[in-house]
Amino acid sequence: MTQVENKEDFEEKKSLNFIEQAVEADLKAGKNGGRLNTRFPPEPNGYLHIGHAKAVCMDFGIAEKFGGTCNLRFDDTNPVKEDVEYIDSIKEDIHWLGFDWGDRLYYASDYFPKLWELAVRMIKEGKAYVDEQSSEEIAKQKGTPTQPGVNSPYRNRCIEENLDLFERMNKGEFDEGTMVLRAKIDMASSNMHFRDPIMYRIIKYPHHRTGNTWNVYPMYDFAHGQSDYFEGVTHSICTLEFEVHRPLYEYFVKELADESYCPRQLEFNRLNLTYTVMSKRKLLQLVKEGLVSGWDDPRMPTICGLRRRGYTPESIKNFINRIGYTKYDGIISVSLLEHSIREDLNKRADRVSAVVNPVKLIITNYPEGQTEQMFAENNPENPDSGTHEIPFTKELYIEREDFMENPPKKFFRMTPGQEVRLKSAYIVKCTGCKKNADGEVEEIYCEYDPDTRSGLPGSMRKVKGTLHWVSAEYSQEAEVRLYDRLFNVENPAEEKDKDFRELLNPDSLKVVTNCRIEPYLAQTAKVGNRYQFQRIGYFCVDQDSKNDRLVFNRTVSLKDSWEKLKDK
Ligand code: ATP
Ligand code: MG
Repeated sequence: MTQVENKEDFEEKKSLNFIEQAVEADLKAGKNGGRLNTRFPPEPNGYLHIGHAKAVCMDFGIAEKFGGTCNLRFDDTNPVKEDVEYIDSIKEDIHWLGFDWGDRLYYASDYFPKLWELAVRMIKEGKAYVDEQSSEEIAKQKGTPTQPGVNSPYRNRCIEENLDLFERMNKGEFDEGTMVLRAKIDMASSNMHFRDPIMYRIIKYPHHRTGNTWNVYPMYDFAHGQSDYFEGVTHSICTLEFEVHRPLYEYFVKELADESYCPRQLEFNRLNLTYTVMSKRKLLQLVKEGLVSGWDDPRMPTICGLRRRGYTPESIKNFINRIGYTKYDGIISVSLLEHSIREDLNKRADRVSAVVNPVKLIITNYPEGQTEQMFAENNPENPDSGTHEIPFTKELYIEREDFMENPPKKFFRMTPGQEVRLKSAYIVKCTGCKKNADGEVEEIYCEYDPDTRSGLPGSMRKVKGTLHWVSAEYSQEAEVRLYDRLFNVENPAEEKDKDFRELLNPDSLKVVTNCRIEPYLAQTAKVGNRYQFQRIGYFCVDQDSKNDRLVFNRTVSLKDSWEKLKDK
């Protein structure tokens, strides 16, 4: 091997995260016959969020990277909370992120018969028993990490009675909560998960796939490892909270497996983001209580919310790449996510003119009725993107904030006596304004210099400010939805003494109904298209758009000079 190859080899290794390194080592050691099979195991009890995207990118991404496969398995063991609506949305979101499970679509419910058989076998081998205590009693007997638990009075029931009761539990003879099947392991184990964990509970609710076949349903710990085993999963990658479950995971798998094969569980840190919540229970509550418009409300951290907001799959994947995978829990600033979408859209979004808070600008020396077609660059970051026409007329709209009658120092925008450039058009000099009875500016006046038309030598003259504008005559009205953080505090999950709903930001959505957009934007806008509104931010066409009335979501604001100006 040459030196150069060595170096490349080294650099490639360096860029692998700790899970990739572990997988690579297993493959090199020839474990599982050199096979790599991961799985993504969502419970269909809600929509996927950005945290799930981190798991999706790991599970599918690592399979892609090392030539393996990744199963999609719905962990559908609790019919009460689950629904096909969620199954469909999860599939759609994984595809949108750019991953595919091929023909490897599975459901934990497919394994109910096999899991039942295993439970029966364990009962017969004296490894499981039916406990008739309430969940409170069972919890009380659990002990603490430093104190051993107490054996259930039902722990030593005979095998026949256990078998009979388990059968009858499933026939529906007993009420929910009256009985559970527990593994008989060790109430004094230093690992709390070994203190006779519950294997099955009674749920009398039709399952979306198995209907009324079952009245008992396996717990996560009794279903997950075995499902991995049934599918031949080699690496079961999950989040850190499952680390303490790992010995139990292996314990149950060993009831099925011989020495030659046991899926390997590996754990990484879950994603938490500032100013939002990631708990499906809380997200569901926001939806159910109408505190947001739905799972795809653009303020939600869900994949469909981010999609509707204008995020691209690439920006999400870049973000996840950037934050990486570690063994430590923490919270990531949402500004890092925003940075990723800005970076992506900077490269791909057309620049357009839209005036969000319009006020009329009249060029008093411009010929009445004249229209000139100016040329606006589509994207200065992309030399192949071309230009589009933007009509210039005597009456325009500019942003209200771009005019001040009595400005502070260093205000380089529109103010009487000062020159300013109208982007892609002319240099104009402000001459004054007209106000209404309330003192509100109604019209602004200026004069243009015909020699400064964009492209002419006169346009080279230095002026400090450049403003965007649209023609009053040719522009169209549109609605824009300006989003801000959904919560007022950095980490809502941490405020234990408060109801998380009290922490919602009341100003997280501001709707502007009289935005003015240039004709090019009006003509090209299709649902899902993304644009940069110059000097304002990135926007995406919303599904609520109608032909004669477009609706735009603000994906993210631009980091612009205005912010600095306001600070002064
Ligand atoms: P639940 O409370 O319903 O179990 P969950 O968020 O764990 O919620 P699952 O559907 O079980 O939801 O998650 C599927 C996979 O996504 C799991 O492997 C889980 O570890 C992973 N996952 C969930 N939330 C995050 C997160 N915030 N960051 C990274 N991975 C996550
Ligand atoms: Mg879970």
